[in-house]
Amino acid sequence: MKIAVAKGDGIGPEIMEAVLKIFKANKVPLEYETVEMGKWVFDKGFNNGMTPQAQQTIETLGILFKGPMETPKGKGVKSVNVTARKTWNTYANKRVFQTLHGVDTVFSKAGIMIDITVVRENIEDTYGGIEHMLTHDVALSRRFITRPGSLQVIRYAFEMARQKKAKRITCGHKANIMKLTDGLFLDCFYEVAKEYPELKADDVIVDDLCMKLVTRPDTFDVVVLTNLQGDIVSDLCAGLVGGLGFAPSANIGDHISIFEAVHGTAPDIAGKNIANPTALLLSGLAMLRHLGLTENAAVIENALLYTLESGVHTGDFGDKTKAPVNTTQFADTIISNFGKKPGIGAKEIIPNIPGTPAPLKLEINSMMISKEGENEIIAGVDLFIESDQQPTVIADKCKRHGGVKFNLINISNRGTQVWPTGSVYTNLVNQYNVRFESINDEPLNQQDVIGLYVSMSGNFKICSFELLNKWGDKKAYSQAQGQ
Ligand code: NAD
Repeated sequence: MKIAVAKGDGIGPEIMEAVLKIFKANKVPLEYETVEMGKWVFDKGFNNGMTPQAQQTIETLGILFKGPMETPKGKGVKSVNVTARKTWNTYANKRVFQTLHGVDTVFSKAGIMIDITVVRENIEDTYGGIEHMLTHDVALSRRFITRPGSLQVIRYAFEMARQKKAKRITCGHKANIMKLTDGLFLDCFYEVAKEYPELKADDVIVDDLCMKLVTRPDTFDVVVLTNLQGDIVSDLCAGLVGGLGFAPSANIGDHISIFEAVHGTAPDIAGKNIANPTALLLSGLAMLRHLGLTENAAVIENALLYTLESGVHTGDFGDKTKAPVNTTQFADTIISNFGKKPGIGAKEIIPNIPGTPAPLKLEINSMMISKEGENEIIAGVDLFIESDQQPTVIADKCKRHGGVKFNLINISNRGTQVWPTGSVYTNLVNQYNVRFESINDEPLNQQDVIGLYVSMSGNFKICSFELLNKWGDKKAYSQAQGQ
């Protein structure tokens, strides 16, 4: 079996070398093809941070094992890490956080054992990075939550929870505020939950989830979240078990998967051979299990846990009264401990059943549609306009443009209604949302909306607009605060 390896930037090459040395010593049946990705590839002029050859190799082999990579600042280029996850549709980011004996935390000292798997949606949400300055004062980020995308990651989380024999699966969300986006994610969660009656499925609002994770982490098992909330919650969980040096990450897709540590390139310690390779090693072990190399994974993990238990540590953790070892010595100690088992948390040795990482050869992009469109009508439009005038002045101007098809319904500023009712204590910015709906619920068409747009553009700069769709009686848009 062959996989692609990208060593990464900063401490990447050092920790990758340590991990591959451990794999080699354990006779892991893998071959490695090194691919060119990272900062120096950006510097060579490849704006996505990888060479076309690297892309081709990864699409042929199906598995990428990567070190952390730096995104050059101020060049307007996007993170190669995020590009890789999105390009290859690795929709589920799985991060396992377990108490490691020998890595002291407030919880381990109190005898509270943690074993939490966070599954974070990996492609959508604000990580689409679709952002616009609407005025010099107002920036807008588009947050995409889709039904097919949510179902994909939630199904993965339930399936993984079933295989792990988890008891509980929890959806973290903010559907009380973001009723359409997080509401959709939550609906998908309970839709999929019906297929897994043996699992206790529940949901917790994300701020409450953070509080409960910190106070009672042992009550959680599998947690699934949207992208940004998952990013934050998973770093919180890393803190619970000893920090980023112990946080592995698997980016799982249907065809291509990427395994990497959660931490970055640690430029402050790069080149000194003192970095902790544990997170990358744990990511590598997740990769071995993904490839069916369960025996190699268990032997290496037992040796790692034994090493940690015996107090051997790099400089970033462990007993400060005991001298730390460097990256190479840490790897060598693990190798010398092959065959030993830790006192706590020993992994069962399950014989290898190697799979094949090579992906199906795709000819066209997959179109994901999970639900047929219902009887849809255009009920109105939100026009986002630039103006520094008072709401009543804007309303008087807007009313003139409604004509025979549109009623001016309300005007809001930063999502708070300021006309026809509102408060003078609401601070304003120079960008309003003006909502028009059709008179007498008459269905509109796109030409009607464009006509209104053209008419309004005589008075205002229109920054953007959104159609107000209705599916049957259901409004497919949010209300303004106070409407
Ligand atoms: P970082 O994770 O690199 O470092 C944060 C702190 O943790 C530093 O003090 C560092 O020394 C320490 N640290 C991190 N990993 C360690 C390890 N294995 N052993 C010992 N100490 C370790 O975060 P940052 O400084 O915010 O980011 C540095 C660079 O990494 C940035 O360019 C960022 O874009 C990039 N980054 C890449 C990835 C990725 O490739 N997936 C993820 C995060 C950040």
